[in-house]
Amino acid sequence: MNKDSNDNHSEEVKSNFIHLEIDKDLEENKNGGAVLTRFPPEPNGYLHIGHAKSICLNFSLAQKYGGGCNLRFDDTNPVKEDVEYVDSIQEDVKWLGFNWEKEVKFASDYFDQFYAWALLLIKAGKAYVDDQNADEIAKQKGTPTEPGTESPFRNRSVEENLDLFERMKAGEFPTGAKVLRAKIDMSSPNMHLRDPYMYRIIHQAHHRTGDKWCIYPIYDFAHGQEDFIEGITHSICTLEFKVHRPLYDWFLDQIREADENWKAKVRPRQIEFARLNLNYTVMSKRKLLELVQKDIVEGWDDPRMPTVSGLRRRGYTPESIRNFADKVGVTNRDSITDVALLESCIREDLNKKVARVNAVIDPLKLIITNYPEDQEEWVELINNPEDESMGSRKLPFSREVYIERDDFMEDAPKKFFRLTVGKELRLKGAYAITCTGIKKNEEGVIEEIYATYDPETKSGATTVTRKIKGVIHWVSAKHAVDAEVKLYDRLYNHEAPAAQKDADHLDFINPDSLQVVRAKVEPSLKDAKALDKFQFQRIGYFCVDKDSSSDKLIFNRTVALKDSWSKKK
Ligand code: ATP
Ligand code: MG
Repeated sequence: MNKDSNDNHSEEVKSNFIHLEIDKDLEENKNGGAVLTRFPPEPNGYLHIGHAKSICLNFSLAQKYGGGCNLRFDDTNPVKEDVEYVDSIQEDVKWLGFNWEKEVKFASDYFDQFYAWALLLIKAGKAYVDDQNADEIAKQKGTPTEPGTESPFRNRSVEENLDLFERMKAGEFPTGAKVLRAKIDMSSPNMHLRDPYMYRIIHQAHHRTGDKWCIYPIYDFAHGQEDFIEGITHSICTLEFKVHRPLYDWFLDQIREADENWKAKVRPRQIEFARLNLNYTVMSKRKLLELVQKDIVEGWDDPRMPTVSGLRRRGYTPESIRNFADKVGVTNRDSITDVALLESCIREDLNKKVARVNAVIDPLKLIITNYPEDQEEWVELINNPEDESMGSRKLPFSREVYIERDDFMEDAPKKFFRLTVGKELRLKGAYAITCTGIKKNEEGVIEEIYATYDPETKSGATTVTRKIKGVIHWVSAKHAVDAEVKLYDRLYNHEAPAAQKDADHLDFINPDSLQVVRAKVEPSLKDAKALDKFQFQRIGYFCVDKDSSSDKLIFNRTVALKDSWSKKK
């Protein structure tokens, strides 16, 4: 883990409408001036950049108001959840630079309390056991403009409901045989209030409670209560939960009415904001899981994934992601953010932070014919012109160097500022060279190019009077280190891969999203460690892969120096 990322960061967070709402609450001295938020992921997948936005929002609210933010796993559905996800989520939140209040919380820790409250609701005549299956219940739901039909089991006696619910818990019925429903209003204009489910039977062990339970609360009968139990003051969630809010309030009102112990406790205030949507990206965990399971990517942390772990492996920094979240801002209207904004945030961050090194990703050999064959010398290059304090380093120079194949052109147009026969330019930090000829193989592909150098032009020399236009990067052939370089492009070639009516997101996978090339890099990179980041001069930002070693160096391209995608069709 990057040590810096865990320090308290002091980036200014733009103010947003949620701040205004909380300011009002504080003015009215609600909650005694306390602010407690939470980030409540379901552990059924890895976190993605949308979650990162929610994390940044919730934790920065806590920081701004001197409050806290809980990390709570909403683990109410054992079928899809796994400890692998519980672990990765904690790692990602910490890596993003945030610390949660006290210990990690789990909804499953409250299962006894939820059960007790369900019993209270049954006793108050506000919940009943329904023997119908999901299809039958769905048919009675009605439509937003037509009322639903009451279940034939709706008017069971309290005694019968208590007996059946206890037997559901005891495991007497198979999965799906019965459900517990709230008795609210089958003709409510809000569909969520038409006798929603509270509990279902699932004979499946839970990653934390083992075999203790075979009935599990529905998300809607758990989420609001989790916030309530923890004393969350502001439940920040995405817009689609706005219509659930009356139901959460209804459950909590019934609980406060029926349970002496919780009567005086204040309900959390729910505030909804627009979720992050990115073009060329899918964000649904179900679809991301599909990419993993169908081996379209290497795993959840494949550098093409929009997951936090994928972005980390790709070379993103926590600062760049926090900065991105801030730039996107917090609003209450849905919109789609250009993924180019995310890319510009990492460029901006790395520009000043990382050393610029010489690496040639499509090597072409250049032989300096008048440079003595056994001679070697060291030339000095500054590490980052944006930050002098990063110093300089020495690079070996010799008679044969690699240059980028596309830095040479045989029939160059006038405006080509790189190399062609007869032209002089500078090898960055070294000498001016003039190209004298080329050698092609039988297929007509250029194999080598030849040049002469002018010993008077060593970088830093003050005696050169002519103008040397053009500078290219290079690596001494004798000293170069081989590296595998993974050039990533967008995973989808459609702007909205998940939003096409008659197509699946998999129909829009970009077949060229990964290109692996064999590069020659300067020797100082030999011992680069996983997650070390560099700018390859004139090419882009690169990050050492987690599987890299000094025997086999592997770099991932984080992002090109410029946004090339905007020019593509
Ligand atoms: P699913 O894909 O399973 O519906 P989810 O993305 O809603 O899941 P959760 O684990 O429930 O996943 O999300 C945890 C929190 O992250 C929620 O509070 C949710 O509001 C927030 N969140 C999820 N996706 C986004 C997004 N794209 N933008 C902002 N916040 C998000
Ligand atoms: Mg969700």
